Amino acid sequence: MNKIDKITQKVKGNLRENVSLKDYNTWKVGGKAEYFFEPHDLEDLKIFLNLTSDEKVTFLGNGSNVLIRDNGIKGYVVCLKKSLNNFQIYGKNKFIFEAGLSCMKIAQISAKHNLTGLEFLCGVPGTLGGALKMNAGCYGGNIWNNIVDVTLINKRGNLVKRTKDDFKISYRNVEIDENNFFVSASFNLKENKMNNSQNIIKDFLKDRRSNQPTGLPSCGSVFKNPKNLFAAKILDSLGLKGYRIGGAYVSEKHANFIIAERSAKSEDIEKLISFIQKKVYEDTKISLETEVKFIGTK
Ligand SMILES: Cc1cc2nc3c(=O)[nH]c(=O)nc-3n(C[C@H](O)[C@H](O)[C@H](O)COP(=O)(O)OP(=O)(O)OC[C@H]3O[C@@H](n4cnc5c(N)ncnc54)[C@H](O)[C@@H]3O)c2cc1C
Repeated sequence: MNKIDKITQKVKGNLRENVSLKDYNTWKVGGKAEYFFEPHDLEDLKIFLNLTSDEKVTFLGNGSNVLIRDNGIKGYVVCLKKSLNNFQIYGKNKFIFEAGLSCMKIAQISAKHNLTGLEFLCGVPGTLGGALKMNAGCYGGNIWNNIVDVTLINKRGNLVKRTKDDFKISYRNVEIDENNFFVSASFNLKENKMNNSQNIIKDFLKDRRSNQPTGLPSCGSVFKNPKNLFAAKILDSLGLKGYRIGGAYVSEKHANFIIAERSAKSEDIEKLISFIQKKVYEDTKISLETEVKFIGTK
């Protein structure tokens, strides 16, 4: 019996070989995962990680902040977006959300309970796990602001609880041991005395529609904003809107967004990113850092 058959016998989730990752990231590009696993639930994830503890494992949420390379990802890709999407409410204002829940759902659930602080998540097209890793934020909100503690799973499938103070949290990044992955987080939220969370959500979504190329394949903002500056403004001032390499081009609506056409390869996007960084540095001496994470074989 081969390795995959042995694992398949012991887990309830879906384990497949050679799976195209194009449908698992918002740029819709990239190669294949050597092995792709969608756990049934947390228990299933524990069993799976225990069986693969010596192998390379990459976690993926909704793939909305990654550039998956054309040569794909070696080892196992674990995707949480279809599972680990339960939540519990404790007392009046404490939630535990699982890491596969979409940010949009989390915004809606907390708004429905008339609790405020997570409305900003409504337009972030990721999962909670990805948002925690990326320290997602916008409109003055930030995912780690209301966190009490988080639960991680390690490569052997054991759970570890950590408080916010255990992490080095910086702009669009949180450092975690590469063998640990988020499985849930608990939040302490405030009652919304104004009872206006649904209106706040509507306003945020309206603002996104008017300022961002929503609906087109992108990864949101590609570059981090340099201190006291906006990456989009820098790119716009250098005439980069519309600049293209292959099937990838800089959005005319928001210069920090790169749009991938159907024909785009991951390589087109990576080349365009490098071109922009080089041009910006030559013209302004500013080094633009990417927000998006590059994953997979070069
Ligand atoms: C149109 C658009 C608008 C966006 N707007 C915003 C915005 O306003 N603010 C903002 O901050 N971001 C924004 N983003 C970026 C993105 O949606 C967020 O960073 C989101 O939180 C990423 O979540 P994800 O599940 O898609 O993560 P993925 O892209 O799947 O993964 C991102 C990183 O997290 C790691 N990861 C994923 N899951 C886990 C886990 N469970 N444990 C440990 N590591 C994990 C991955 O390995 C990868 O390194 C936008 C993206 C798009 C496409």
